[in-house]
This record gives sequence, structure tokens and C-alpha cells, in this order.
Amino acid sequence: MNESGTGALALLFDADDTLWENAVFFARALESFCAIMSRQGIAEERTRALFAELEARGFRRRWYGSRRLEINLRAAARRLLDGEVEGGLAQELRAIAGSVSGHEIRIFDAVPEVLEALSRRHRLFLVTMGESQEQGGKIERSGLARHFEAIHVLHDKTRAAFEEIIRRHRLARRSTWMIGNSLAKDIRPARAAGLKTVHLANGQDFGFGLPDTGIQADLVVRSFAELARSFGVGLAR
Ligand SMILES: [Mg+2]
Repeated sequence: MNESGTGALALLFDADDTLWENAVFFARALESFCAIMSRQGIAEERTRALFAELEARGFRRRWYGSRRLEINLRAAARRLLDGEVEGGLAQELRAIAGSVSGHEIRIFDAVPEVLEALSRRHRLFLVTMGESQEQGGKIERSGLARHFEAIHVLHDKTRAAFEEIIRRHRLARRSTWMIGNSLAKDIRPARAAGLKTVHLANGQDFGFGLPDTGIQADLVVRSFAELARSFGVGLAR
């Protein structure tokens, strides 16, 4: 894999929790919701258990980002409080949901430098999923779009979606790598499509209520600096 100037690779990057922080905003939103429910006498464990159940359902229905969060917060509140969600509570829940989409983008350490270095040798693509407007806004605010030959915001990361990207850009499977933080959403479908995979095991994962046991990547790295070393590019610092 260490390249010596020949044999450009195609490197597909996940965005949320790979290039920048994401799960942490959802965790914080859930904490705020638990605090609101606990004021109404609902135990935190009960709130978290119900929310996890609703999250898995929302994911299967392909709701994403702040929209999914608001739908699930409202559904959870209705069930926990046994009544309609109106007035001040509805406003509070909307504000909590909004907090996961409009925030400042916090890019992980070394990401811009590594993308810059890799893009001199390889073809880089961004492959994310979610609501196109919300993901598009994050990509724009990140300032990282210029490193990528193309950006795909998918409805879901499936084997078929990866195969379509392979066809569209005429990628060779043996020299195409998917790099992402999620075993379930990045590594599993990319492997199914015949790609090579790098799991960025940075401890950030939203989970989506999906099982991720038994999935193995070709390569595991813990940071972008380690990724750069694995692909044979040095960082000027
Ligand atoms: Mg991710």
C-alpha cells in the first residue's frame, strides 16, 4: 500500500465522526432531553432506553440528522409524559434538535494536512449520508470540499450505493479504499461491494442502534496521522 509515486488510489472518506465531531452533539442533545424528562419525574434510564428504541426505528425509516432527532424526541416525550407535546416543551425540543445541525464544525486533529497530502497522490472522494441540505451545510462550513474530486451524500450507505459510485467514477476495486469510523455503516457495505477498508477506530460512533459485531476492516488506524503513515505520506510539521 505504501505508494512510491505510482499507482494512484481512490480514497473514499466518511464525514461525520471521521473528519469532524458529530456524535458528541447528539450525546449532548440526549443529555438535555434526559434533564427535561427528569424534571417531570422520569428516570434517566427509562428515557435513554426508549430513545434508543426509537432511534433504531428512525434509522430504518431513513430519517437523519436533526429531523430524525426532533421526530424521536417528540415521540419519546409523548410516550414518557403520556400526552401531546405542545407549547414550551415543543419549543425546547426543537431547540435541542437544532443544536446538532447548525453548530460550528470541529475538525479532528491533522485532517486538513493529511487530506492535502493524500490529494497530491490519490483521488479523494467524500461519501457521507443524511439529509443533503444538512450534510451540504456541514461540508461547506468545514472548508474541506476542495480536497475531493466528488462528494456524495447518500440516502443510505449500502452495497448498491457503493457499487454505483464505483461505476460512476470508474474505480478499480483493488485500489479503492473506504475510510470511516463506523463498522456498520462504512466498513460492512464497502466490503460487500468489494472495496478495501480502513476503520478509523477513534472511539466516536453514534451507533444508529445497529449491531457491529463480526465486521473487520483490512486496516485499523486510530488517527489521521496514523492514516497518513499507512498510506505513505509524510506531514510537513
Ligand atoms: Mg461516520
